[in-house]
Amino acid sequence: MISEFSLIQRYFEQLTPKRDDVILGIGDDCALLQCPADHLIAVSIDTLVEDVHFFADVDPLTLGHKSLAVGLSDLAAMGVTPAWFTLALTLPEFDEQWLQGFSQGLAELAQQYNIQLVGGDTTRGPLSISIQVHGHVPTDLALQRDKANVGDMIYVSGTLGDAGAALQMQLKQWHDDQLNDEDKSYLQHRLECPTPQLELGEKLRGIASAAIDISDGLVADLGHILNKSNVSARLDLSQLPLSSALAKIDQQTAQQFALYSGDDYELCFTVPPQHFAQMQTDFKQCTRIGVIIKVIKGSASLIYGTNFQAVKSKIKLADPLITLIITGTGYDHFK
Ligand code: ADP
Ligand code: MG
Repeated sequence: MISEFSLIQRYFEQLTPKRDDVILGIGDDCALLQCPADHLIAVSIDTLVEDVHFFADVDPLTLGHKSLAVGLSDLAAMGVTPAWFTLALTLPEFDEQWLQGFSQGLAELAQQYNIQLVGGDTTRGPLSISIQVHGHVPTDLALQRDKANVGDMIYVSGTLGDAGAALQMQLKQWHDDQLNDEDKSYLQHRLECPTPQLELGEKLRGIASAAIDISDGLVADLGHILNKSNVSARLDLSQLPLSSALAKIDQQTAQQFALYSGDDYELCFTVPPQHFAQMQTDFKQCTRIGVIIKVIKGSASLIYGTNFQAVKSKIKLADPLITLIITGTGYDHFK
């Protein structure tokens, strides 16, 4: 059995790019980090637990990627420039092949965004991965959930529902004969290898009024914006952006995936009228899906939750325009 210290040294100490703003990295009791003047530090942590967030047999390389990507997606949602991360790793045993793959997955993404692993903790127990990401954002320019206003347009980046479709396929709860092998591996890739929308998040500083990343599903995550901003939303379901794979399947099913399934890690954001014109020219990868309206409380169109089957019956898809007055939240680990 390798010692804790040689494990850290072998797999993590030299793993990621060296940044000038890391005064002291791995190896002491704390890391010492330099924040640019007139910026705020943004911090976010996520934990991934085996059998809850990933399957035991998942490729460690994609797991390494995803563990970091989900944190970076939170930074993207607030318009933050990523800089550093820490890693708390609990491992059942020393598995060289697993550590090699996992650290490689982390390293590739860290390299892509020039972020440095600056510390962590390594313990023994059931497999669990916690990553805390840190970045900075000019004071007053962070994108928050609580600043959407009536009349703002609602946008999403990329396409929705891909990861959810892949998960349902993997769980053998759904399949569609229209999908060929290429479609299926595209969807699988979307589930296992999400791309954090960091460039988009930074570009939305000063443009979006509110933003969130879609980890739990559009309805759940847009719901957080609505709740925090005390507004409601009217969505045009015919505008939900679908990948060419999901465009092949039954439209109602595709819309259900787009509305309720998580793990896409796209951004959902609101834009005030003075920036509508710019959206059409500078944000071509984003789609307008609806508008923010005055808060409506307790009406018949109340939609709860994100459970795929449970929700299916509650929403009338014949009407392409739906009003969301959201009070429910997404996946709840304690329910
Ligand atoms: P301490 O006992 O003072 O908390 P540790 O013995 O846990 O320190 O860790 C030694 C050094 O290695 C620290 O700088 C810590 O941040 C770093 N470290 C521990 N585990 C990891 C890891 N999984 N990834 C990166 N750095 C780690
Ligand atoms: Mg420790």
